[in-house]
Amino acid sequence: MKKINMVDLKSQYENIKGEIDTAIHEVIDSTAFINGPAVQQFQKDLEAFLGVKHVIPCGNGTDALQVSMMALGLKPGDEVITTSFTFIASAEVIALLGYTPVVVDVDPETFNIAPKAIERAITPKTKAVVPVHLFGQCADMDAIMDLAKKHNLFVIEDACQAIGAEYIFKDGTTKKAGTIGNTGCTSFFPSKNLGCYGDGGAIFTNDDDLAKQLRVVVNHGMTVRYYHDFIGVNSRLDSIQAAILKVKLKYLNEYAAKRNQAAAYYDKAFANNPKLKTPVRFKNSTHVFHQYTLVLNGVDRAGLIAHLNSKNIPAMIYYPVPLHMQKAYLDPRYKEGDFPVTEHLCKNVVSLPMHTELDQEQLELITSSVLEFVNR
Ligand SMILES: *Cc1c(COP(=O)(O)O)cnc(C)c1O
Repeated sequence: MKKINMVDLKSQYENIKGEIDTAIHEVIDSTAFINGPAVQQFQKDLEAFLGVKHVIPCGNGTDALQVSMMALGLKPGDEVITTSFTFIASAEVIALLGYTPVVVDVDPETFNIAPKAIERAITPKTKAVVPVHLFGQCADMDAIMDLAKKHNLFVIEDACQAIGAEYIFKDGTTKKAGTIGNTGCTSFFPSKNLGCYGDGGAIFTNDDDLAKQLRVVVNHGMTVRYYHDFIGVNSRLDSIQAAILKVKLKYLNEYAAKRNQAAAYYDKAFANNPKLKTPVRFKNSTHVFHQYTLVLNGVDRAGLIAHLNSKNIPAMIYYPVPLHMQKAYLDPRYKEGDFPVTEHLCKNVVSLPMHTELDQEQLELITSSVLEFVNR
């Protein structure tokens, strides 16, 4: 059997090696390493795929969030609401820019930010909300956009884990994750659903003026060459990464289908086991399974992970510490017990291997090994 990894980038590469190698060599031959034609071509392809007017490539997903907030003109002291159950980047840039991160609890079924909790946290200082489409499915965007409209807030979607997922509005219309708010942010970190072979990211928007400002901010705040009207940053997607992404984008729907097949296998194996809660599908979103995450009920989590590891099966905890309990973000406003859903999840979740190359034999071993420990 092939070795089981959380993410198997090697096998994925081997399946598209010819196309990828050609794309990389074309960039090297052209020597257009920065802002070369590959970047514009990938940008156009991604705009078409997402059905969004503007894609602004940048250096990584964290930059995409930071640049969004800078381009929207948020000011120090502004409050920005985000979820307590996420990767740190979502809150990091808020703090870094001198805004005040306000964290709120999540929905126990979808793990995504709870609109009711957002509403309770809104103050006259609140300027923006950062919903994170965690593990591959969209947050409740109908409710979030309603709140944003009512309270005049910007919405910056963190779609780093959900590229390609589709949000289904109450009226039946659909939009891709990241194309609903003022901006959407994604990461092309290698293990993300659309990953490159280094760092990369992008911002999405349908707002023409905002798109212009985003392009200025990623390029040193430069409007005309060597004239700087704003304080910006240097954040670019390089041409080699763009060429790789242009190839991989063609396979993104196929990759999502493969992830869904693996998820369906897991679901079936664990169905009706009272000790294992399988991922709940939110009725208003498709799922692209960046992670397949179980919530354990009365199972020794460390013991389960050790048991899996002893069979060379990796398993990970996303995320072990709620945002408000992270050392760097400790704040007298928050204490243990404030966000019970997040705190429960941090103690009881476990993510199983999830990628585009999992085969039946591997899935069989993973599920039987989980059940062997859980049922003993
Ligand atoms: C990966 C990730 C980021 C950051 O992306 P980088 O490209 O690593 O900077 C931000 N938010 C979430 C939810 C992520 O999963």
